[in-house]
Amino acid sequence: YEAKKDGKSTYRFYQSFMEHHYERFLLKQELRRGIANNEFVLYYQPKVDIIQRRTIGFEALVRWNHPEKGFLSPSEFIELAEEDNTIELIGNLGLDEACKQLKCWQEEFSNKQLTIAVNMSARKFFHSDLVHQVQESISKYKLPYSSLVIEITETTAIKDFEHAVKIIQKLQSLGVHIHLDDFGKGFSSLYYLNRLPVNAIKIDRSFIQQIGQGQKENPIVNAIIAMAHSLNLDVIAEGVETNVQLKYLLGKGCHIMQGYYFSKPLPADKAGDYLRRM
Ligand code: C2E
Ligand code: MG
Ligand code: MG
Ligand code: MG
Repeated sequence: YEAKKDGKSTYRFYQSFMEHHYERFLLKQELRRGIANNEFVLYYQPKVDIIQRRTIGFEALVRWNHPEKGFLSPSEFIELAEEDNTIELIGNLGLDEACKQLKCWQEEFSNKQLTIAVNMSARKFFHSDLVHQVQESISKYKLPYSSLVIEITETTAIKDFEHAVKIIQKLQSLGVHIHLDDFGKGFSSLYYLNRLPVNAIKIDRSFIQQIGQGQKENPIVNAIIAMAHSLNLDVIAEGVETNVQLKYLLGKGCHIMQGYYFSKPLPADKAGDYLRRM
């Protein structure tokens, strides 16, 4: 009897394990089909400088316009895409498309200062062809190198720290800026931060959301901003949703912000409208 019961639960475990794998297998196939079918599009979220009172650029965020499931956000497919080279394919489309779109806006608004930030997976960031691809996209659309911002996370940098430093330096020597995304969420190691030659850090949304939730002061946010200042780095707040958060951040010396308070990520035409209204 015991053996039978065990056998059954082993079987059930095996069954759910297989179903899980089969689902992932299907989704991976779907990803490849989606790429071949051009189903990935970029949405753009404005980055606002409160002191200058203007939109300084956009962050490009990928969406999967799935024929049956509708618009899927990165959380539903990025992790899986990172397991194999599909993330590189999505990344290649993203970099090129983002540069192309930025060129249109720079011309339409005669503003060469407008920037575009692109999120980069570890796979793409450490790929031997990255610097070359950046050069290609930038020169293809005749953009200033300073128009491009590449966002990486600390987790990415730590995967191969010395190598990451070299890549960052190479990109920066071209004029590209590197921002450290989701800061505070990972290790937030001061040892690494001090040695990572990034241009700015982005305070993770989870910390911004705590502002205005009861406590008057938010020591973590204060510390990140103060640290950025003393390291001579720009600091950007992501996920700003309320005027209370805006005022708090401004009071602490963080004036570059991004979040639903200003705008959700928008399709290219709507992002253009946003710029026109500003
Ligand atoms: P992230 O780079 O930290 O992007 C910010 C995320 O916060 C975006 O989610 C954005 O839609 C969301 N967000 C912005 N403002 C607010 C706000 O005020 N409130 C709330 N609740 N959320 C806000 P999204 O677009 O789902 O992207 C999630 C993550 O997926 C990104 O985090 C980024 O790490 C990754 N990702 C997005 N696009 C790409 C891409 O093209 N390539 C790679 N490798 N990763 C990407
Ligand atoms: Mg980002
Ligand atoms: Mg972020
Ligand atoms: Mg984030």
